[in-house]
Amino acid sequence: MVLETKGLIKVYGGKNESNTTNALNGVNIKVKRGEFVGVMGPSGSGKTTLLNILGGIDKATSGEVKINGKNIDDLNKNSLALFRRENIGYIFQDFNLLDSLTVKENVMLPMILDGNRSSKMENKSKVIMEFFDIYDIGDKYPYNISGGQQQRTAICRALINDPVIVLADEPTGNLDSKSSNNVMDNLKRMNEGRGSTILMVTHDAFAASFCHRVIFIKDGKIHMEIMKKKNRKEFFDRILDCLAVMGGDRR
Ligand code: ADP
Repeated sequence: MVLETKGLIKVYGGKNESNTTNALNGVNIKVKRGEFVGVMGPSGSGKTTLLNILGGIDKATSGEVKINGKNIDDLNKNSLALFRRENIGYIFQDFNLLDSLTVKENVMLPMILDGNRSSKMENKSKVIMEFFDIYDIGDKYPYNISGGQQQRTAICRALINDPVIVLADEPTGNLDSKSSNNVMDNLKRMNEGRGSTILMVTHDAFAASFCHRVIFIKDGKIHMEIMKKKNRKEFFDRILDCLAVMGGDRR
């Protein structure tokens, strides 16, 4: 199992305060190697909290998170930072490229942070940048390339350390439908072409329809879970049905 959580509970606010929030109420998730899993749920259902805990950015109040069999709660601050860089790739809503770095430097940033800029690493970045068709623009800056190229740069950066899992946070959040389609095609390529395991939080049924499986959470609990059976269109329709049953504003 690439990712496994057991009884994840997150309570915000002090132990003795009356105004605490139970953001997660016992979440069990298993993700296998090569899976592409979506997480959806209404606003306030706990999606961001879950993603932050899975990524080691926040700690659960109780319960367990295992990534590649390692309980991340056992790691101290420095080991966790290293573990995260080596094992988890992140794709953010606005892609978060650094404008002062070239495309190639952005892609190589996680390696540079590890002090790992050898010729082997240069070669690795070349392979992945060629795969996503941005090798020829490696010396350009993010503001001189297209939105699609920026997205692919962010995808290459997320994959450069060969993470065991990629966590994507609303990757189509601010995009028009054509760009959303592009991003999802690239995530699909990443999953199918490179075998990357992806867990993606999204409010977007179109984006979720690219997944193999969608987990719906509500009030910090897993409400239901559906698998893709036939094609994307059929899955999209079932995702819409689930969202309708769950209610809420879908974001
Ligand atoms: P979602 O991402 O699904 O909108 P969140 O994980 O952001 O949900 O929030 C889940 C619940 O936890 C909500 O009730 C929210 O108000 C609460 N919450 C989130 N972050 C904090 C925080 N830092 N302090 C207190 N409450 C929080």
